[in-house]
Formats: sequence, C-alpha cells, structure tokens
Amino acid sequence: MLRLPKFEVKNPSTVEEAITMMSEIDGEARFLAGGTDLNPNMKHRLFTPERVVALGGIEELFGITQLEDGSLRIGAMTTLSEVSSHMELGAAYPALSQAASLVSGPQLRNMGTLGGNVMLETRCQWYNQTYFWRSALGFCMKKDGTKCHVIEGGSKCVAAASNDTAPALMTLGAELEFANASGRKRMPIADLWQADGIWNKKVPHTELLVAIHLPKPSADQRGAYGKLRDRGSIDFPLFGIAVRLDCDANGVIEDAALCAVALQARPWPLKKAPALLVGTKPGEDSFAAAVEAVAALAAKQCRPMPNIPGDHDYRHAMVPVYTKRALLAAANGDGPVHHV
Ligand SMILES: Cc1cc2nc3c(=O)[nH]c(=O)nc-3n(C[C@H](O)[C@H](O)[C@H](O)COP(=O)(O)OP(=O)(O)OC[C@H]3O[C@@H](n4cnc5c(N)ncnc54)[C@H](O)[C@@H]3O)c2cc1C
Ligand code: SF4
Repeated sequence: MLRLPKFEVKNPSTVEEAITMMSEIDGEARFLAGGTDLNPNMKHRLFTPERVVALGGIEELFGITQLEDGSLRIGAMTTLSEVSSHMELGAAYPALSQAASLVSGPQLRNMGTLGGNVMLETRCQWYNQTYFWRSALGFCMKKDGTKCHVIEGGSKCVAAASNDTAPALMTLGAELEFANASGRKRMPIADLWQADGIWNKKVPHTELLVAIHLPKPSADQRGAYGKLRDRGSIDFPLFGIAVRLDCDANGVIEDAALCAVALQARPWPLKKAPALLVGTKPGEDSFAAAVEAVAALAAKQCRPMPNIPGDHDYRHAMVPVYTKRALLAAANGDGPVHHV
C-alpha cells in the first residue's frame, strides 16, 4: 500500500488567508483542490510538501455565474461534474463541457475541479511511478535525477500537458484570474504555458487560481472535443483535440480555433488551421476540403513522443482521424468524439 507522507493541513476561508498560509513557511506548500492528482503524486513522493492549503472552505472559489456582459465566470473549485452537466455552459461552450465530461471517471469528476485541471502537473510514463520504480531507473531530471528517458541526452523535460480542459479553454480564449501576495491579476490562458515539462506554467505554484472567465460566445458558436484513450471508462488522453467554429448568419465560418494536448509540455494550438477553415460552410464541398487540409496539417504539426503510455506511432496515426472527427462533430453539433 502506498502511504501519504506526513504534512500539515491548513483550512483558509478567504483567498487572502490562503495566500498568507501558502507563503508563511520556509518549506514547500501546495494548494489542495479535489486532491485527485495531488494525493497520488504525494504517495509517489513526487511532492512531499510540509503544508497543504486546502481550498474547500473558500466560498469565492465555487460556482458558475453568468455576468452582465455575457461572459461566464467559473470558480476554480467548481467540479468537473458541475462543468459538464451545466446546461447553459454546455450549449454555449460545447468543447469545454465535452472535455470536462471525458476527464477520468465519474467519481474523480465529482471530486476533481476545473482549477485543478488547469493547474495539473505534466505527465510522463517514466515519472508518474512509485519512488521504488523510479529509483530502479536512476530517476529522471523532473524529480530526483539528472537524465531524461524520453529524449536521450535531452536537456529539457518534455513531460506532457495531459489536462483535457486546457485545449478547450485555449480555443475559447479563456482568461485566468490569479491571486498572489501583491493582489489579483488576469491573464489569457494562452500566456500561462511554457515549454518546460518540469513546471509548464509561467505562474509559480504559490499563486492561487481564483476563477476562469469565458468571453461571451458568438451568436453561432460551435465546438467539440475529441479524445483518444486506452480505456473508454477512465484514462488520461493519449491525444486530445478541441475545436471552436464561429459561423455567421449564413452558416459560413468566420472564425475558428483548434488546440491539441498530450503531446509536449504545453497545449499545442494549430495556428494555421483557422486560415484553412474561414470562409467555408459546413455541409458544402469547401468545408469538406478544409477538413482534410486541417487533418493533414495536424498530422504534420502534432508529433506524439514516447513520454506517455501508448505507442507513439499509433497515437500519431490517430491525430488526423480525431482532428477530422472533432471538426465534423463541431460543425454538426455532435460530440464528444471518443470510443467507449
Ligand atoms: C485514475 C485517474 C485518471 C485521471 N484521468 C484524467 C484525465 O483523463 N484527464 C485529465 O485531465 N485528468 C485526469 N486525472 C487527473 C485529475 O483527476 C484531474 O486533472 C482533476 O481535474 C484534478 O483536479 P483536482 O481538483 O483534483 O486537483 P488537485 O489534485 O487538488 O490539484 C492538482 C494540482 O493543481 C494545483 N491546484 C489545484 N487547484 C488550484 C488552484 N485553485 N490554484 C492553484 N493551484 C491549484 C494543486 O496544488 C496541484 O498541484 C486523472 C486522475 C486519476 C487519479
Ligand atoms: S520527459 Fe519524462 S523522463 Fe524526461 S525528464 Fe521529463 S519526466 Fe523525466
């Protein structure tokens, strides 16, 4: 049996208290949301914080609220079950709703939060293992060691961003509200990531994600999420792709965004895809041709590595398949795309 290391638990009731409790000790401290990722990681001795600051008592972090300007505020402690079952959110932002519905399994979605999913650690098959397993391999540079088992001689960790909601939030242009010792700040989610698997965020782990803000959707915003995984019932993505399509009054695509995950340390936007899709109309030949072109682009730009389980050649072969299916699902108002 894997046991948790010893640590102290603090239970703040305000954001400000949480920030103070995080910063007032010399040793390491971690925020605890649903604990569905942090606890297994602590059992594997990937983290051994002296203090855990539990966020469950901070009212401000909960709930989904429609604001007057038409945007949506989702508190960081809102569970993935709440996100995936919220009717208005599902209608306005289908890719996010679908992505949340495919994270792990039902029990973990009842505990796991949207904030915890955004702030999720990167994953690697040589890292997400017990201390004993890792020690037999001589550890790796993300934790306790000096070398990388994915890229021999590599100087940078390429553990994969594996959070299903991240690419959906990227396509939606979400903004993140953080609190730190200096106050509050808001930043586009696209600015959160960096290409470093050891810590793939530009914000330190001592800053608290308070809320996720989604801009008002366009009048005809469509979307879908496609997820390749081993087990349909519960599994991290082997490849994930989110799609947003904005159509005008005639059904012609006037804006689009695609973003992939489970490749490298950060979510991977397909920047050249919108140019191929804009001006085409779902149901017409122009759209069918654009879908093929975007699928080919995805195959070129998304190169799975042996950083997470699953044969990476198979994962690569599935990239255009899932990209195409997700685009068609978005256009037709279907989805999510996955196997059961
Ligand atoms: C068997 C299994 C399968 C899983 N499958 C998937 C999957 O398919 N897809 C997927 O995306 N995830 C998966 N997960 C991971 C996890 O369940 C989800 O990512 C979940 O959303 C994490 O949220 P949480 O609230 O439990 O986060 P926690 O475990 O509480 O926290 C995760 C990290 O985020 C930090 N954090 C949490 N909240 C905040 C905040 N508000 N501000 C700053 N930092 C914060 C924590 O300090 C920690 O580092 C799986 C986990 C397990 C055990
Ligand atoms: S990619 Fe994997 S093996 Fe390489 S340093 Fe990162 S976690 Fe370790």
